[in-house]
Amino acid sequence: MTWHSSPSSPWTVQPVRILSIKDEIPQTTTYRLEFVDPTAGITFHFRPGQFNMLYLPGFGESAICISSDPQATHTISHTVRQVGNVTCALARQQVGDQFFVRGPFGSGWPLDAWVGCDLVIACGGLGLAPLRPAIYHIINHRSDYRNVHLLYGARTPHDQLYAEEFEDWAAAGIELETTVDRGDASWQGHIGVVPTLLERLRLEAEQTRVLTCGPAIMMRFIVFEALERGVAPRHIYLSLERNMQCAVGFCGHCQLGPAFVCKDGPVFTYERMEPYFNLDDL
Ligand SMILES: Cc1cc2nc3c(=O)[nH]c(=O)nc-3n(C[C@H](O)[C@H](O)[C@H](O)COP(=O)(O)OP(=O)(O)OC[C@H]3O[C@@H](n4cnc5c(N)ncnc54)[C@H](O)[C@@H]3O)c2cc1C
Repeated sequence: MTWHSSPSSPWTVQPVRILSIKDEIPQTTTYRLEFVDPTAGITFHFRPGQFNMLYLPGFGESAICISSDPQATHTISHTVRQVGNVTCALARQQVGDQFFVRGPFGSGWPLDAWVGCDLVIACGGLGLAPLRPAIYHIINHRSDYRNVHLLYGARTPHDQLYAEEFEDWAAAGIELETTVDRGDASWQGHIGVVPTLLERLRLEAEQTRVLTCGPAIMMRFIVFEALERGVAPRHIYLSLERNMQCAVGFCGHCQLGPAFVCKDGPVFTYERMEPYFNLDDL
């Protein structure tokens, strides 16, 4: 597969049209998009873990990771939580409406380097969105990897993102364990935080790669537990979020120590991020 990470100019925006809108969980929606220019659709490729800047004229731009299958051609999806200016304006759009994207930007999960490894994907809430393309990639190349565990936590059973896909993922060889903070009458599964799922997992540290994305507190405990279990800091990968503006390392808004989350990340090894990991605004 050919993956291109840099567009011809990082400032070039491409018009996209909304093909479908799916309300996933409260305040969170997936937009499936096609490029208005068919050539742009053909040449757009991304690595799992990368993001686009979504631009709504009059409202501004937001960094949003790509949540669709990297092998799917012509369309991309973004799963967006309504929190502010741009994301709430996006929520008012209808099927057929157009806006703009530029990208893709940033590093991805280095999946090609993990061939032959066990993978533990530990995520919470919307943190599953930047991992979904990685899950699709793993399923598309399932024999390249050994055991693949997906540990996913949500606040309640109704807050589980992409829950309708879980059965397919399990059938495709992803060992899925979910947990919620608060169950309901129908919930038969685990109650507790995601790191408790990792505590129970049997793993061979040397050949395990850990991928994590979610609330900072969850990632801290995942890292702590993975280190306790003997996983090397260079084998623990985090996807980080920072307030982002230019997406190409010019403006400095997303700087974390010497790194720019936009161009050096958002995926980093814990080895690289360790000095900054306990900062409050990680
Ligand atoms: C690499 C990357 C990937 C992202 N992927 C997604 C995604 O897939 N889906 C999604 O819904 N969101 C994602 N985000 C977060 C999204 O970019 C922010 O929520 C963005 O600010 C929303 O824009 P807005 O104009 O709607 O909100 P704004 O008006 O910019 O902000 C609303 C509120 O959120 C706060 N805020 C802004 N950015 C952040 C942030 N990064 N972390 C915490 N608080 C913040 C602001 O301070 C403000 O209080 C991602 C961010 C990054 C850096």
